[in-house]
Amino acid sequence: MQSFDVQVSGAGIVGKSLSLSLAGLGLSVALRSAAAGAPAAADVRAYALSPASVGLLQQLKVWDALAADARTAVHDMVVHGDAGDALLEFSAWEQRVAELAVITDAAALEHELDHALGFAARVTRVDADVDAALVAHCEGRAAATLATLGETTFERSDYGQRAVAARLVATLPHRHTARQWFRSPDVLALLPFDRPERERSYALVWSLPSERADALVAMDASSFEHELAAATGGDAGTLAVASERASWPLVVAGASAWAGPGWVLVGDAAHVVHPLAGQGLNLGLADVAALTAVIAAREPWRGIGDERLLRRYGRQRAAPTWAMRQMTDGLLRLFATPSAPIRELRNNGMNLVNRVSPLKRWLTARALDS
Ligand SMILES: Cc1cc2nc3c(=O)[nH]c(=O)nc-3n(C[C@H](O)[C@H](O)[C@H](O)COP(=O)(O)OP(=O)(O)OC[C@H]3O[C@@H](n4cnc5c(N)ncnc54)[C@H](O)[C@@H]3O)c2cc1C
Repeated sequence: MQSFDVQVSGAGIVGKSLSLSLAGLGLSVALRSAAAGAPAAADVRAYALSPASVGLLQQLKVWDALAADARTAVHDMVVHGDAGDALLEFSAWEQRVAELAVITDAAALEHELDHALGFAARVTRVDADVDAALVAHCEGRAAATLATLGETTFERSDYGQRAVAARLVATLPHRHTARQWFRSPDVLALLPFDRPERERSYALVWSLPSERADALVAMDASSFEHELAAATGGDAGTLAVASERASWPLVVAGASAWAGPGWVLVGDAAHVVHPLAGQGLNLGLADVAALTAVIAAREPWRGIGDERLLRRYGRQRAAPTWAMRQMTDGLLRLFATPSAPIRELRNNGMNLVNRVSPLKRWLTARALDS
């Protein structure tokens, strides 16, 4: 059997990025895909990527290959509460950065990663386990192999919600503004995008109780557009559906240990957060950067499967991931509470944060760093 330095299990965005990144250190990588099933439908999601994630994809020579209309900068963000005129506004200008995030087409990003992998001589695609000093588990939230590791437990809780995603075209230009509505118990986000129509498209992520999500996916397009109009109050203009609608179950999850002798967990295989802050993939790409840096800086006598080495990676990533999980989970629970006093408190809180610039800057900086 051919022997490799690393086996990366799972060829999602995190697994592909890790393969390219470790190959860049001169390591031989076997990228193991799941058994071929029915061809998957095109992913209608668009991801809000942080500047840190964009930096990593630039290093991997993937970012600049993306078509201009597959990456749209976000300059402003408006968050609406669920009472009166509660509002929280963030701007790149206020934060002294070029953009708050870049909205990226999920399918286009996967395509460019595949293209780059085609030129990566040190990466071999495999469909079965190989002999390797290190196995990096990147199988996402469904990571079936986790049970067989036996050295970590996966704490997982189901929100009883699904996120509905679709592409929309609006009658008003998006002006590079992301919009989000916290409408107990729903959270609706419109991410400005340039596909299918430049300056007028949005990627929708609408999290809501599973039964209602299923109904929204099943209903005809004009009824869905009617629901959208009611939920967004026409702030983005009239919205028309421009793609299939798809939905994902929402869970919060985390592994008790991220690394052991000869194995690590990376991306959604280690942690799953609610998409309300658009941070799941950003956390996964930060894992890729951290693991690459830890391996690159290892002592010459330490092998790459060395447990003490790999635990350095786990220690680095556990705290920021835990913080993001608490933040998204806390926000969701705060806005899911129907009680009137809590409702008043949270909406007043939003307005307060909006007026206190240092706090707002601190919050934005945390999101930009991840
Ligand atoms: C609606 C929605 C919107 C989101 N928006 C954002 C956003 O704006 N910004 C952001 O940062 N994040 C966002 N996220 C989160 C983001 O989608 C995930 O964090 C990210 O896709 C995780 O990537 P991954 O590669 O770790 O896992 P996955 O994408 O799940 O990939 C795992 C891969 O492993 C394969 N696999 C599974 N089992 C095996 C096996 N046994 N052997 C080999 N391969 C296997 C799977 O087939 C898959 O290809 C969103 C999530 C949802 C649901």
